[in-house]
Amino acid sequence: MPSAVPPRSRFAVPQTLKRLLLPSWNRGHWFLRRVVEIAEAVLRRRFERCDVCGRATPVVHRAWVIPPRLVELWGLSTELASALAHKESDLCVWCGAKRRGRRLARTLLDLYPAGASARPATSIAAWIRDPAIAALDILEVNAVDGLHAYLSRMPRAVATEFDADAPAGAVRNGVRNEDLTRLTFADASFDLVVTSETLEHVPNLERALSEIRRVLRPGGRHVFTTPLMPGVPATYARAGVGSDGEILHFATPIRHPGGDVGYLVFYEFGADFPSILAASGFEVEVRYGPPRDEDLAQVFVTRVPRPLTALPIATTARRT
Ligand SMILES: [Zn+2]
Repeated sequence: MPSAVPPRSRFAVPQTLKRLLLPSWNRGHWFLRRVVEIAEAVLRRRFERCDVCGRATPVVHRAWVIPPRLVELWGLSTELASALAHKESDLCVWCGAKRRGRRLARTLLDLYPAGASARPATSIAAWIRDPAIAALDILEVNAVDGLHAYLSRMPRAVATEFDADAPAGAVRNGVRNEDLTRLTFADASFDLVVTSETLEHVPNLERALSEIRRVLRPGGRHVFTTPLMPGVPATYARAGVGSDGEILHFATPIRHPGGDVGYLVFYEFGADFPSILAASGFEVEVRYGPPRDEDLAQVFVTRVPRPLTALPIATTARRT
């Protein structure tokens, strides 16, 4: 009668060793790759001063962040794929901020100059220490690489992530769950909303913009990045959600890298995108724009107009 216990594999020891050594091997591989990337940046003399952490840094470029399959499905030219890779990498080696994160940072420093009485802050690291800036109510929807580490130190900043399976507004492991199309915050709760590469992934753009406008105070701003390809004349939905909650596809489904299976793109934004933002009740500004084949890292700034105040003019003639 055969034994119920399987015979001890003669490979058991090497496999155990492999399990023990694998983390060290992965760490070594990661470290080696970082050294090569930084050496390449130094050799190519790619240096910048990072607007997020304030340090001088070699700029690490990673062409591979835009996979060939995405290039093919999205129909990107070589030039657009390259511009997208610059936007999605060109990392600060100190804080990990990508090019788009550093441009968001520069935009915040310009729009909210801190330390006006002395020298204006030149990095987000210094900016968050200013009392006037620390008093801002900031909503960061989905952590922005590099920037999040600093915004999360601000006493009045709220960071959220989206988990379709968790209740809206619930806090799990210190992270608040929020759906951008039905935020649980009260009206006029924030001075500033920051998002980065998020709007294209919401299934209902109109509701998301309406919600952002609702939670902002008059004069409040939404500062964000999102893909906008030159040569797309009008914004269109690549996908939507049917009445039963099923995903409907109106164009080739594309997913941006991230998460377990990537993030489905619901909207392809086009040249009319600023007018769509304006139609949602915002004043609109596009920084680093317009989108060009060689530069896709624009920053959008939308602002809730302040209500007009009545002019101090009497409605009846005053007799003297
Ligand atoms: Zn940095």
